[in-house]
Amino acid sequence: MSAATHLFLCLKDNYGVLLHDSQSGATAAIDAPEAAPIEAALRATGWTLTDILVTHHHADHTGGIRELKSRYKSRVVAPAREAAKIPEVDETVREGDTVSIGKLSAAVIETPGHTLGHVAYWFQHDQLAFVGDTLFSIGCGRVIEGTPGMMWDSLKKLRQLPNDTRIYCGHEYTLANIRFARTIEPDNQVLAAREVQAMRQVAQSEPTIPVTVGDEKLANPFLRADLPDVAASVGMIGRPAADVFAEIRARKNRF
Ligand code: ZN
Ligand code: FE
Repeated sequence: MSAATHLFLCLKDNYGVLLHDSQSGATAAIDAPEAAPIEAALRATGWTLTDILVTHHHADHTGGIRELKSRYKSRVVAPAREAAKIPEVDETVREGDTVSIGKLSAAVIETPGHTLGHVAYWFQHDQLAFVGDTLFSIGCGRVIEGTPGMMWDSLKKLRQLPNDTRIYCGHEYTLANIRFARTIEPDNQVLAAREVQAMRQVAQSEPTIPVTVGDEKLANPFLRADLPDVAASVGMIGRPAADVFAEIRARKNRF
């Protein structure tokens, strides 16, 4: 496997991540929260930035694009549906498109809900997915532009990826997400174990990501809205999963 990743914090709680193809030397930043930490990561790895893959238009994912592009002439790839809101876009992508980073190749998965044009990048061969602000470790993004039903459909697309897919998300929110998740599934032992693990990681200033699709399916309540026990815990037995999801998301907003 020729894909290497390098993960680091940006801004307050954003993650920056570099993806490097050792065969070709190509290196992509997935989102560009701010230029300085990305440049520091490039210095630390010795990699040269060739591409920026953008998940969505929010400033905490795009604020570094102009500066990085002027320095490295990197190609900027962004979702077609919100390219007009993203600076310096060279290529736009839609559902099912393929994006190459050197010899690495990603399928574009449209995941609307947080924003209407949000996309994820799935590197099937390398078992990696970069999901921006759609799916978080034990959480999901706020439904800002879309509807809860739209977000539920997007999360189901990510849930269908192979269990050993490693998920990189846009923010370090894991501990707060777990505290909320335990109010939905207080008896979920996998979730309890994740809390112990995440508390140790945070105490040691380690990232809590990547996480795997398989582990999230066992503990992330937002991926579990179609389970009878989860519906029961929010008093919605027999109701459509999208409605159960909407209720869990609403409770998280108030938490
Ligand atoms: Zn966002
Ligand atoms: Fe964000």
